Amino acid sequence: MKPAKESPAFEARIVKCPACGGPSRYAPDNRYRPFCCERCKNLDLGAWASEEFRVPTAPPLEPAPPEDSWRH
Ligand SMILES: [Zn+2]
Repeated sequence: MKPAKESPAFEARIVKCPACGGPSRYAPDNRYRPFCCERCKNLDLGAWASEEFRVPTAPPLEPAPPEDSWRH
C-alpha cells in the first residue's frame, strides 16, 4: 500500500505553457503553473484583460423608455 499523501493528481508533469507554448513544469512548486514562468503568467493575464475590454461579455441592457415619451 502507498502512503495517502502521495497523490497522483499532483505528480509533477510537463505541460504546454498557454502563453508561449513551451514546456512548463506543472507541479506544486511551480507557482506560475500552468505557465512556465512569471513573465508568461503576466503576459496571459494582460491578454485576458485587454480581451475583456474589446469584447464585452454581455450587451448592456437598454432601459425601457418611459411610457409617455412616445405618446407626445
Ligand atoms: Zn511560457
